[in-house]
Amino acid sequence: MHKWISQEIIELLESVWTNEEKGANDEESIASSAKTTVTEDLLAECEREGYITRNLSEIELTPLGRKTAEDVIRRHRIAERLVVDVLGMTLEEVESDACEFEHLVAPGIIEAICTLLGHPRTCPHNLPIPEGHCCRKHEHHLDSVVTSVDNLNVGDRARVAYVSARNYSRVQKLSSLGISPGVTIRLHQKFPGFVIQCDETQIAVEKEIAKDIFVWQDDKVTG
Ligand SMILES: [Zn+2]
Ligand SMILES: [Zn+2]
Repeated sequence: MHKWISQEIIELLESVWTNEEKGANDEESIASSAKTTVTEDLLAECEREGYITRNLSEIELTPLGRKTAEDVIRRHRIAERLVVDVLGMTLEEVESDACEFEHLVAPGIIEAICTLLGHPRTCPHNLPIPEGHCCRKHEHHLDSVVTSVDNLNVGDRARVAYVSARNYSRVQKLSSLGISPGVTIRLHQKFPGFVIQCDETQIAVEKEIAKDIFVWQDDKVTG
């Protein structure tokens, strides 16, 4: 079903897309921000294959080119969110490897990751993430997403999806207390401080930490 497309073509289409977001569609801007050398051969190939149209030095995506670029941009930006939100890396660390991002996530699991992350609308650079099928479906199932513990009500039980690794020692500490993906926790108290029950243990945490623990909302059980 998927036609093989060369990396050069993908890089060019990504550049056309990101330039369009900034309101530019001239060959010079597109060539200078593309992560590949934009040659006349490459442009001619993209045109022949039906990905772009050219009018003087202006480049536009065709519907096919737009769909192809959208898929890549979506993977790239979802992968950035995954790396920043779940793996806890900084934007600077993200940027140094940015061109490899879309390869981090296989196309087949992008919807699962998008769902895990709660269908994010923007990447860490605040650029829009194109909607996937899962995001559109989600509009009708508002509860089936991940939320942070500070959004639970006292007495709610929920299964942990992940702990944001923004602070690695915090992840280790929570994990040593039994809070790790897959375990069910119960929010025991919210005021004056958060108390989370995990098995027989009650763990007092600051709100900042409660915000870093993400649980599946659809597993939420009140009581
Ligand atoms: Zn980004
Ligand atoms: Zn989604």
